[in-house]
Amino acid sequence: MRISFLAVALGCISITGALGAQTAEPEFSADRVRAHVEFLADDALEGRNAGERGYEVAAKYVATRFQALGLKPAAAGSWYQQVPFLEYGLAEAPATVTIAGRAFRNREDVILSGSEAEAQQSVEAPVVFAGYGLDAPEAGFNDYKGLDVRGKIVAVLSGFPNGTPSEMGAHLSSEKRRMAERHGAIGMVTILTRADEERRPWARRVQMAGSTNMTWVGTDGRPYSAAPGIRVGATLGGAAAEALFAGGKRPLAAVLAEADRPGGKPGGFALKPRLKVDRQSVNRRLTSPNVVAVLPGSDPALANEYVLLMAHLDHDGVDPKLEGDKVYNGAMDNAAGTATMLEVARAMATASLRPRRSILFAAVTAEEDGLLGSEYLAKHPVVDGKIVGVVNLDMPVLLYDFSDVIAFGSEHSTLGPIVARAAAGMNVALSADPLPQEGLFTRSDHYKFVREGIPSVFLMTGFAGEGKKQFNDFLATHYHKPTDEPDLPFNWNAGAKFARLNYLIAREIANAATAPVWYQDSFFGRTMAPAAPKAERPMEIRQK
Ligand SMILES: [Zn+2]
Repeated sequence: MRISFLAVALGCISITGALGAQTAEPEFSADRVRAHVEFLADDALEGRNAGERGYEVAAKYVATRFQALGLKPAAAGSWYQQVPFLEYGLAEAPATVTIAGRAFRNREDVILSGSEAEAQQSVEAPVVFAGYGLDAPEAGFNDYKGLDVRGKIVAVLSGFPNGTPSEMGAHLSSEKRRMAERHGAIGMVTILTRADEERRPWARRVQMAGSTNMTWVGTDGRPYSAAPGIRVGATLGGAAAEALFAGGKRPLAAVLAEADRPGGKPGGFALKPRLKVDRQSVNRRLTSPNVVAVLPGSDPALANEYVLLMAHLDHDGVDPKLEGDKVYNGAMDNAAGTATMLEVARAMATASLRPRRSILFAAVTAEEDGLLGSEYLAKHPVVDGKIVGVVNLDMPVLLYDFSDVIAFGSEHSTLGPIVARAAAGMNVALSADPLPQEGLFTRSDHYKFVREGIPSVFLMTGFAGEGKKQFNDFLATHYHKPTDEPDLPFNWNAGAKFARLNYLIAREIANAATAPVWYQDSFFGRTMAPAAPKAERPMEIRQK
């Protein structure tokens, strides 16, 4: 509850400030949100899998909604930014990790996936344990200090040390392959901490490990990899992890026990056995569009600055192997977010006073494959101007009348006070992240824009009142399952309320005198936008 008190204090300013000039406030309709969700999450859309027919129908639906609102197609005259993808996976031949002469087959005590770059691989190298595998001295992480990993495979613990601020920890975790590559490693294997094993047991991880992965293909025709020097990777569990540490300087159990303790950072050392990965990979090319539209800004001086309102349109498709219901409808994930975006677009396009800055609306593809459509859009902008802020919509849990929200990213930039004013104006409280271990800040599309240095915010419906029970029940029972479908007991009014809140936020970003900037003390601002102007964090919202 870092900034909820301030939110109340600032609430009155918004009435006389940015919002004061508007007369008639737009209506937000539960029925319209419901209609979008019921169409997009219908079985007829076959789970909207990127590259498949159901997604194409969903994309056409969104494009025609944009058209009906009088928006402008944003991709060189088209509604569609076509994204080329490479899907890759393991071939039929067995894939194995061999440690000290013992071969572990995929999905037994190791989890392997295909290679996007090499069809045939047999890679063997010495292994160095590198703690959590974090190299960010400015944040106090020096796991590679004193280790020589050139030409070797590094073994790293999953996640980040107990007690690390969760958003920074989640970001640094997602950088481990790049960090290993920087130090000359050619492979990276991950050992689960006890906390991670408890949070998601091995059997569930095996079940969740899809048979294929995807990446986008650059204009040079090459499949994108964040760390192309890391040629092999695997997750090791049980006997495989034990075998790797056999005869080492410290037993695995001691390393894991140290990692369990608050602030525990086990130091690295060379391991005894060599590790060999044998795998064969197959791939295919496909394309799938981001659907993009612009509402031109009303102020000529600001119209070349854009606020991006984004929601992923894809979900997990159909699984013919399932018994009974085979369709991953993705009603909450993310028909609900797309519906919210369409309702915000309608409000903005039909308002008597249009926003001063331009608004870019994007229904992005392949989020479920690793935030790929958004990454492509972030690296291949469709507009000539500058995107100055992002409001992302992903899986609002519209099962209850939420009375608080978690605003991921808001404490890092001047978006914070904007979110606080909008929420206070609707009597919605701002709460601290109740699921820090999930690293949600780095798990949705706005993060790809944060990485490009753009201040971003992503709201999640909060845990106050019945929120905690409803949210956790949804996660446990319906999240990424065929039962995430429109016949869940939706609270459609909550959908209209969520649309209104995001509208108020996006509108204030679009109408503010100055574009949002990072706070000087924000890890993300300093790391992703080192040269950009920064603001001093107001006294009232100094971080703890
Ligand atoms: Zn999802």
